[in-house]
Amino acid sequence: MNIWFTEDQTDTVRLGLKVESVLWKETTAYQELVVANTDAYGRLLVLDGAVQTTIGDEFVYHEMITHVPLALHPHPRKVAVIGGGDGGAIREILKHPSVEEAHLIEIDEKVVEASRRFFPEISAGLDDERAFLHYTDGIQWVREAKDFDVIIVDSTDPVGPAEGLFAPEFYASIKEALGDHGIMVAQSESPFLQPHLIQRVMTGIAQSFPVTRLYLAAVPTYPSGLWSFSLGANGDLQDAALRPELRDMPTRYWTPQIQRSCFDLPKFVQELVR
Ligand code: SAM
Repeated sequence: MNIWFTEDQTDTVRLGLKVESVLWKETTAYQELVVANTDAYGRLLVLDGAVQTTIGDEFVYHEMITHVPLALHPHPRKVAVIGGGDGGAIREILKHPSVEEAHLIEIDEKVVEASRRFFPEISAGLDDERAFLHYTDGIQWVREAKDFDVIIVDSTDPVGPAEGLFAPEFYASIKEALGDHGIMVAQSESPFLQPHLIQRVMTGIAQSFPVTRLYLAAVPTYPSGLWSFSLGANGDLQDAALRPELRDMPTRYWTPQIQRSCFDLPKFVQELVR
């Protein structure tokens, strides 16, 4: 069998993964959902033709979108993930003993169902008693939210229902939903292939937050393999080395050293966000 999954990452760049078998396909109210088994990265979740997560590299993205902001907060207690229906971000958030509530705000319940069925190692945290699931639009939800310590935007690309998750008005609502030491992080795509999107996200966050930072991680199945995360904070950022529980965090990519080095940007990225 010689079947390939191909993602058109841009008009001129494609990713190809050899597929062993297609496990599930459905059209939800919001998107086309496919689960397949690949040779290189194991099980793969695809929404509207775009890779969302794979068993082989999900840990990088999920650890970096969660532990970096949580380590920068002095005592993260109440955390929300907007999007993130695979559950990987919730799994990582729940590794922090200070966390009392981890809320998932996912517009498409079918993504959660598919993840529970085909990605139990990613979605396991969703059954934890500290996890609260809300099937609604994150843009609406955040307008009513209050007193969160960290809000994570784990969204699809900026098209369809996720488009508003990249707008300055949305970041302004997040700021209102955060407490004094509040921190937000949004996945902001690749500095090689979507530099203008990074600039748009960083500028949008800066309109609401006094402190903004960009950091990077290597996620091989995402466009170009170098991924960015845009962070906004209401106040001074905590030094990760100060919290003892962070030293033994059970992770595969994130370490207290990476917590610091991920903010050291290559020169072309520094110029992008200057
Ligand atoms: N890590 C992934 C990436 O960068 O490709 C994103 C993973 S997660 C599966 C993205 C989720 O965001 C999808 O399940 C999608 O349904 C959800 N989503 C998109 N727009 C949303 C919105 N407005 N409110 C809540 N969830 C939304």
